[in-house]
Amino acid sequence: MVVLLITSIFLGLLESKSSIDQKLTYMDTSLKYLLEKEDSSNFYDDLDDFSKVNSNLRITYIGTDGNVLYDSSEDYRKMDNHANRTEFMEAMAKGKSSHIRNSDTIGSRLYYISQKGNNILRISSEISIFKNLIIYHVLTVFLIGVIVIIVLHIFTGIFVDRIINPIKNISDNPYDISDEFIDGSYDEIQPYLIEIKRITEELENENMKLKNWNQKISEITENIKEGMLLIDEDFNINLINPSILKIFGKNKAIRSLNDLTNDKALIIKIKEALILDEEVNFDININNTDFRVYIDPIYNNDKKNLFIIFVDNTENKRGEELRREFTANVSHELKSPLTSINGYAELISSGLANEKDIKEFAKIINKEGLRLLDTIDDLLKLSKLDEGSESIEFTEINLEEVFRSISNKFLPKIIERNLLVTFDIDDIRICTNESLFIDLCTNIFENAIKYNKDNGKIKVIAKRNEDGRAYISIKDTGIGIKEENIDRIFERFYIVDKARTSSLKSTGLGLSIVKHIAQNLGYTIDVKSVYKEGTEFIIRINE
Ligand code: ADP
Repeated sequence: MVVLLITSIFLGLLESKSSIDQKLTYMDTSLKYLLEKEDSSNFYDDLDDFSKVNSNLRITYIGTDGNVLYDSSEDYRKMDNHANRTEFMEAMAKGKSSHIRNSDTIGSRLYYISQKGNNILRISSEISIFKNLIIYHVLTVFLIGVIVIIVLHIFTGIFVDRIINPIKNISDNPYDISDEFIDGSYDEIQPYLIEIKRITEELENENMKLKNWNQKISEITENIKEGMLLIDEDFNINLINPSILKIFGKNKAIRSLNDLTNDKALIIKIKEALILDEEVNFDININNTDFRVYIDPIYNNDKKNLFIIFVDNTENKRGEELRREFTANVSHELKSPLTSINGYAELISSGLANEKDIKEFAKIINKEGLRLLDTIDDLLKLSKLDEGSESIEFTEINLEEVFRSISNKFLPKIIERNLLVTFDIDDIRICTNESLFIDLCTNIFENAIKYNKDNGKIKVIAKRNEDGRAYISIKDTGIGIKEENIDRIFERFYIVDKARTSSLKSTGLGLSIVKHIAQNLGYTIDVKSVYKEGTEFIIRINE
């Protein structure tokens, strides 16, 4: 722009120089033309006419004494004597003069040409053309400059857009850089775009992994039935899962441990873990449910947090209870026949019993001894099944053969009680562990005899379902089981009615052995019973 401006001034100078030359020539020619008319009587009119046409020229006619005789711009009468003016004196001396001077009269810079005729004729002109030309050129250049700037601005805008747009697009859509987009951009920025695309893809992958991981974690914490809690040293909750709210019976958003519980035992244990800075585990009962609580101090950016898990401990507690009950039951079941045996043996050994009593006592001792053996036998079976260590061998057996043999074993009892035993057994062969399977069926069949009424019936059905699975039904017309007791008959040592079964060989372990065997073989057992009418056990066989 500056260069353009300087050039324009220079051009202006050049152009004004040539304009001045032209003007001088014109002035010179005019001078000659007017002096030719000096002798005419209408000379002053001619001067007037000329001035009118050439208003940019000032014509002055000066007498040889310096007095102004005519002037096209001023009233000549009021004008000073020009005798001492340079152009006058030079023209008087040399016949011609040209001179540049500031005109005080019209207050501008003037170019004067004077020539001597009869008098002195002077033509002058303002050199303002020089100034105008510069202004004209400067203005032109300025305008050109503005246009150039606008055009440059538009073009640089387009050019910059082509470079900037891809970068803007990337920042707007960093995960959507297509290959076409890269191909369509400048060669110079393509490597950068390729690198950005690679990095964003990597980031996206990492982001996806992180999202999936987060989702998995939150799915786990949301759905896990254990209660999970993460608290800081001030008991503010950083993580809480829905199970915790269920455990503590809360349903609103909880921010602090104090909003969740004021259980003193729990809070003391939490403080203990905080102070000792070590893992603390303990059992606690919250809202009538037993929990095992695990508190672990963990560090997050040097800040101590406690991770607390509440695990439902009801099963374990129940297991413990059952074990305690079982031990007590075993002791009792072993102790009572032994006490009876000891008592009668003592009586016999004291010599106080007579011959007849001794026989009777011996019978009782024998019966109690057998009961003891049965109980021990059943306990051994159960403990074997509990261990589950024995590898189970499978062989093919025929159901009809198995049941005929079981029934034969109990024939004396069946005859004694006058029971009608019928079989509706299809020709079914199953693959099973023979000894366990016989134990299972024997226990149920024996119960059908034991808990039957005299002259009652037992029906054994064995068939295959539509889906091909075999099932066995052992149905009796016996004493039946009250509905509320049905669920408990598989418990160890459970006897529905001790008084009613005192005359029978009963340990309360038979059906727990059945349940265990069924579990080991993968069978299910259903019981249907109508109190005082009869019971049906259905064994569903999974081969
Ligand atoms: P038990 O050695 O006393 O027979 P079980 O475990 O075999 O022990 O049976 C548990 C209890 O279930 C029995 O004491 C009896 O009260 C009841 N029970 C089992 N089978 C039958 C049945 N077929 N009819 C009625 N009650 C039965």
